[in-house]
Amino acid sequence: MIYWDHNSTTPCAPEVVEAMQRYWNEEYGNPSSSHIMGRRAALAVQKAREQVGSLINCSPPEIIFTSGATESNNLLFLGILLTPRRERDQIVVSAIEHKSVLEPARLLKEHGFEVIKLPVSRAGVTDLEASRNLITDKTLLVSVQAANNELGTLQPIAKLAAFAHEKGAFFHTDAAQALGKVPFDVQSVNCDFASFSAHKMYGPKGVGALFVRGGARRWPWEHPLQGGGQESGLRPGTSNVPTIVGFGEACKLAENTMADTISFLRKLSDRFILELREAVPDVLLLNDLHGSLPGTMSLIFRGIPADVLIANCKTINISRGSACNGAIGASHVVNEIIEEANLRDSVVRISFGKDSSAANFQDFFNIIKNIILRSEGNE
Ligand code: PMP
Repeated sequence: MIYWDHNSTTPCAPEVVEAMQRYWNEEYGNPSSSHIMGRRAALAVQKAREQVGSLINCSPPEIIFTSGATESNNLLFLGILLTPRRERDQIVVSAIEHKSVLEPARLLKEHGFEVIKLPVSRAGVTDLEASRNLITDKTLLVSVQAANNELGTLQPIAKLAAFAHEKGAFFHTDAAQALGKVPFDVQSVNCDFASFSAHKMYGPKGVGALFVRGGARRWPWEHPLQGGGQESGLRPGTSNVPTIVGFGEACKLAENTMADTISFLRKLSDRFILELREAVPDVLLLNDLHGSLPGTMSLIFRGIPADVLIANCKTINISRGSACNGAIGASHVVNEIIEEANLRDSVVRISFGKDSSAANFQDFFNIIKNIILRSEGNE
């Protein structure tokens, strides 16, 4: 099987599996227990907190482990929802956020907040000029993703964080797609909060983190989850030690290999596009490759519905867009950036990973050429 859908999820790296191994049934202590096995588990969690902190350049207590970016995003928005309203009642998000930001934002809207959506260009990048005017001194929170999951486009988050701070608002970024794939440093972005998922970067599924500047003591809102005091009271519940250890290891691996992987993936996708344009001239590339996650391409093959292409790719796994949108209809991201309704159904996403190879390019081009031949034959 060829897997070209790394923005959806990635395999666990062998080093990650290896690091997690003994925490399932050898070192299975509860890190909140004060006995020896508990303390050993707590040390493993602490080491992972340091590894994640090192990758994003923050101090370990600023990392709150969660089940992933969905939970991290919800924690933030629900914290706001539960807190008695102050004078600021505007929430600003980009129009192409992941559903795990847009849906909690909708909930805030239902409870009286004004939710403002920042427009994006046709290339899928948040419009800075418009953003500057839409972020006001009524804004409580600005939340813009670091990289878009469907297009791969990197967003100007450092500038948006500066706009937010100029108006006294908090800045959050959903960095689920950026972590481990491109440098992501909470100090240079100057964000107040950031969300992550380990499984997008060769770690296990079901684990991630919320970065909280200053740690839980500086959390400005109510705690949506109540229970024991784990994760400084922000995310109570027995820590999932094996996956947290795996997340830490994936961060360490990313720190050591990111530069090489970026240059490998940039070369691979440049070559892919070059060869693709020769094989199938009538192809549209929606994203600017070098302003996007390395290896992510959003493509339109005119006249070929994405579902038809995917159904014909028997051994190559590519995606319609976001796995989280389900299989039906064009996504909100596609609808946002593509005006021509007839093209919306033809968007496919290819996202290479570190084990992808040019060896399978021709197979893919042949599939497309065959679909075109068949459709011409039917005319
Ligand atoms: N945000 C973005 C940008 C994502 O791409 C994803 C995963 N598709 C998520 C949030 C949610 O991550 P998870 O499913 O791991 O909670």
